[in-house]
Amino acid sequence: PDNRKWGRSAVVMTVVCASCLSSAEYPDLRKHNNCMASSLTPAIYARLCDKVTPNGYTLDAAIQTGVDNPGHPFIKTVGMVAGDEESYEVFAELLDPIIKERHNGYDPKAMKHPTDLDSSKIQAGQFDERYVLSSRVRTGRSIRGLSLPPACTRAERREVERVVVDALSGLKGDLAGKYYSLTLMTEQEQQQLIDDHFLFDKPVSPLLTCAGMARDWPDARGIWHNNEKTFLIWINEEDHTRVISMEKGGNMKRVFERFCRGLKQVEHLIQERGWEFMWNERLGYILTCPSNLGTGLRAGVHVKLPLLSKDARFSKILDNLRLQKRGTGGVDTAAVGGTFDISNLDRLGQSEVQLVQTVIDGVNYLIECEKRLEKGQDIKVPPPIKQFK
Ligand code: ADP
Ligand code: MG
Repeated sequence: PDNRKWGRSAVVMTVVCASCLSSAEYPDLRKHNNCMASSLTPAIYARLCDKVTPNGYTLDAAIQTGVDNPGHPFIKTVGMVAGDEESYEVFAELLDPIIKERHNGYDPKAMKHPTDLDSSKIQAGQFDERYVLSSRVRTGRSIRGLSLPPACTRAERREVERVVVDALSGLKGDLAGKYYSLTLMTEQEQQQLIDDHFLFDKPVSPLLTCAGMARDWPDARGIWHNNEKTFLIWINEEDHTRVISMEKGGNMKRVFERFCRGLKQVEHLIQERGWEFMWNERLGYILTCPSNLGTGLRAGVHVKLPLLSKDARFSKILDNLRLQKRGTGGVDTAAVGGTFDISNLDRLGQSEVQLVQTVIDGVNYLIECEKRLEKGQDIKVPPPIKQFK
């Protein structure tokens, strides 16, 4: 309202009105265990519930996935997504504490995020292949100026696909490959790619559907990969793009080397066409889920740990090493037969090189524990990796 015209009483009325509305709208989070539910308060909700980003994204849209999914059986989820780059500014009062909780104490107001894609710095990147079955490094990248998957229009989603596929046609040598659109794929071809761990799952995850990311599926979704299927780019799943390097076996150093080389070329090809990635110095690369801010990097292995995973100390050891476990079929699957997907927990405040090194050192520690248990020897819970000051 125009305060000059209506005077003080109108101002008071607006305040009373907004707060009674916001308390009537406040979600029931009593059974919830996700980062959004831990940080949201009625006061924060009242201050943010009427704000919109320039693209029209609201707080209610951003938290819907966390309201509808009180918990996840295998990981503590974030419970909030961004609809566009500006969401991280407009809803910062809620997103900043969520980011701090999720990324080991990183303070997005005061700290700066480093980037380092120099794979020559990696030490001891070869795992014992009696335990490690496959190695993978992925990140995401968003195209500046287009809304993110929870909020994009059909036209924006198709524009992402067009821009990225056009850029990828410039990849050369061992990285040269082809785009496979989901709409043109047969059901069997799609299922084979999922079963072989190359392609994202069908949109069955409630985390995805409740965030609005499965709208219009499979329109403008697809996968680009090189001939050897060791360098892959997903288009329009949870992020505009996911860039993946993977191979069978335990050579994480080689996987990371190809990841860095490919990623730099992809960025160059996108920029040549007049586009750029969403990025800022406090949050690093901007992605849909706050858990992926910063590097967006998840470096992981499929590793056999049948004895350690039955030990009561397994979860504590993983926590202290800042590692996360998933089932080998992806984030929504349970582990079978003692084989896990083990990866870094944090993405923000440390560089790509540091995070990959954390995974290498941590997974080697887990394998050492497994070997000790095989011989009937005792294992130790390592001291926790330090929080950001
Ligand atoms: P992301 O974090 O990349 O979205 P998900 O947990 O959703 O990962 O899994 C996506 C797919 O990647 C699944 O098919 C999963 O089996 C596969 N995957 C993840 N890590 C590895 C790995 N180290 N080796 C082989 N496949 C993997
Ligand atoms: Mg996923």
